[in-house]
Amino acid sequence: MRQIIIIGSGPAGYTAAIYAARANLQPLLIASSVEAGGELMNTTDVENFPGFPEGVQGPDLMTKMQEQAERFGTEVVYDDVSAVDLTGPIKTVTLGSGETHEALAVIVATGSAYRKLGLSDEERLSGHGVSWCATCDGFFFKGKTIAVVGGGDSAMEEATFLTRFASKVYVIHRKDTLRASKIMQERAFANDKIEFIWNSEVAGILGADAVEGVQLRDTVTGVESTLELGGLFVAIGNDPRTHLVHGQLDLTPDGTISVGGRSSKTSQAGVFAAGDVVDPTYRQAVTAAASGCVSALDAEHYLSTLPQDLLAKASETELASVTN
Ligand code: NDP
Repeated sequence: MRQIIIIGSGPAGYTAAIYAARANLQPLLIASSVEAGGELMNTTDVENFPGFPEGVQGPDLMTKMQEQAERFGTEVVYDDVSAVDLTGPIKTVTLGSGETHEALAVIVATGSAYRKLGLSDEERLSGHGVSWCATCDGFFFKGKTIAVVGGGDSAMEEATFLTRFASKVYVIHRKDTLRASKIMQERAFANDKIEFIWNSEVAGILGADAVEGVQLRDTVTGVESTLELGGLFVAIGNDPRTHLVHGQLDLTPDGTISVGGRSSKTSQAGVFAAGDVVDPTYRQAVTAAASGCVSALDAEHYLSTLPQDLLAKASETELASVTN
């Protein structure tokens, strides 16, 4: 049995691991088999993470975070978690391999996934003009005509932000009214560089090696047309990855894991949540990292309240895993 298991290997998971490891809790971090490193593995230049004035490649940043966590004794396992039992004082985490690990505390840092349009060319042109993150990639679209898909706050925020770089930004929305808050709508309507294309969905993305345009379909008439573009931002929402904890942890109306105030404490004692899985609003690497720190400090405090015999049992296993 471990003192602590961290599920997730984005900035929240690794920051939690750095803090937990430095507190001598010898955390086990489950990093996922294919998506280890989280969303930043799909990003190129990260220019807004403090401490890297020249910018840093997303995958390099995640490697550095992992090295830092391992340096203090984090054990990283590359597998997917298939099930968890978070009830009771001893939690169990089952991996895809069938292996089961026990721990006194669990940090859930499973992140969120950008919703996708579900078009075949979306994946192919991802990083070649198709993006899900204006803050990350907007800079690369200087002087271009681009489009944002969506009618929520994210789409308005991204479209408005992108006008700093792009010469023109279309907002493609499947209805004729927006879901976005009034203030965000008004800001977008007032921006000369933004033009709305109503009642339209993207039926296809055009371009051999990079985005050259989109095929639009009118959602009322079904009529198709082509729009030339140098980039396409998909801003149709995010889904926190909570499937593992459904029925075990309380969720918010946004679908994120519910935590108490500014803490990482979930509805289950000994279970903490951090990063995008608790954050419907900011979703930045640096805010996820900060939230990971909070979760490790909360977990450390929780562990210090547990009976000595339980803690001794956990420490024996950790010692054995280090000696083997
Ligand atoms: P939302 O779920 O609010 O909006 C998603 C938008 O995308 C909707 O307009 C929806 O259309 C559209 N959409 C969904 N699926 C598809 C699809 N397959 N094809 C085309 N369009 C699609 O997500 P957001 O990310 O915008 O916002 C999430 C939360 O975060 C909200 O609570 C929001 O207020 C908050 N937020 C706040 C910000 C701020 O205050 N600064 C900034 C960003 C987000 P339809 O309307 O037809 O359903």
